[in-house]
Amino acid sequence: MPTLGIDLGGTFARAAVVDEQGKIVAAAKMALGERSPSAVVESIAHAAKAAVESAGSPVKFCGVGAAGQIHGDSGVLAVAPNLGWRNVPLGALLQTRLGYKVKVVNDLAAAAWGELNAGAGRGSHDTYTVFVGSGVGSAIIAGGKLVHGSGGVAGELGHTKVVPNGRRCGCGELGCLEAYVGGHNLIAQTRELLATGRSHVLMELTGGDPARVTPVTLEQAAEAGDAEAREIYERASLMLAIAVANQVTVLNPARLILGGGVLSHCPGIRRRLVEGVQAYASMTAREGLLITDAELGDDSGLIGAALLA
Ligand SMILES: [Zn+2]
Repeated sequence: MPTLGIDLGGTFARAAVVDEQGKIVAAAKMALGERSPSAVVESIAHAAKAAVESAGSPVKFCGVGAAGQIHGDSGVLAVAPNLGWRNVPLGALLQTRLGYKVKVVNDLAAAAWGELNAGAGRGSHDTYTVFVGSGVGSAIIAGGKLVHGSGGVAGELGHTKVVPNGRRCGCGELGCLEAYVGGHNLIAQTRELLATGRSHVLMELTGGDPARVTPVTLEQAAEAGDAEAREIYERASLMLAIAVANQVTVLNPARLILGGGVLSHCPGIRRRLVEGVQAYASMTAREGLLITDAELGDDSGLIGAALLA
C-alpha cells in the first residue's frame, strides 16, 4: 500500500504519495506562511490533501522528515532552528489533523533511508550519508538500521567541533564544523572578506554587492587565485574532509553517500572532500569504501519519510 511522505523544510512543506518501491505516485508543495505550529500543520495538511487526491488511492501511514532534532519516537521536535520551534509535538498535531498514523524523523535520516531503499544505497546495509547544504548533516545506517542514538540526535556531523572557541554556529556553540562549511557560513565568511575591500576578485565577481555572494562565488574567487578567498575555501574544504574521513574511520561504512546544494554546486569542495577521505580515513576503513553521489536529489527525504512510515 502506498504511504504519504512529508518533507518539512524552512520555506516549504512538500508531500508525496510513494509506492512500496519508493516511486513517487503524486506530489504537492505548499509554501509556509506564518511559522506557528498550527499554521505549519495547516500548510502540511493542504499539501498532503492535494497529493493524496491526485494519487487517487487512500493512504493510512505518513512519515515526516523535518529539519531539526527529534526526541526518539515521540514525534516531538525538540529544536527546529529554521522554524524557531522548541518542543513542538508535530507528530501528535499532524495525526489529529490528518487522521493518519504519523512518524517523525530528522530530515537527514529520512534522506539516508530514501537513498538506502531507492537510491545510491541500494544493496548495501552500511551507509554513511553526508549532506552539505545551508547546514551540514549526516545519517548513519548500520546493519540495515538507522542509528538514532539514545536521545535521537546521532549523526549531527555539523556540530562536531573543529576549532576550540572558533566561529559561532547557528546552534549557539563555538567552533562547529557547520560554522565553517555550511552554505550560510561560506556566504558569511565570503561577505566578511568582501566587506574588507581587500579582495579585488570578489569585488569584480559581485560588483561589491553582498547579496550576490553564494558558496560558488567563494569557489570562483579561490580558483581565480585570490589569496584570502583561497585560505577560507581551502580551510573549509579541509575541515570537512577530515571530519568526514574520521567518521568513515569510526563507522566503517560500505558506502559514503554525498549530497546537498554546496556539494552539487561547488565541484572543487566535493573533489577535496573525496580526496581528503581517501587520504585521511584509516587504510582499513577506506578499503572497499564506495564514495557516491545521492541519486534522488531533492526527493530523497520525501521518499525516505514515506518508506519509513
Ligand atoms: Zn553547531
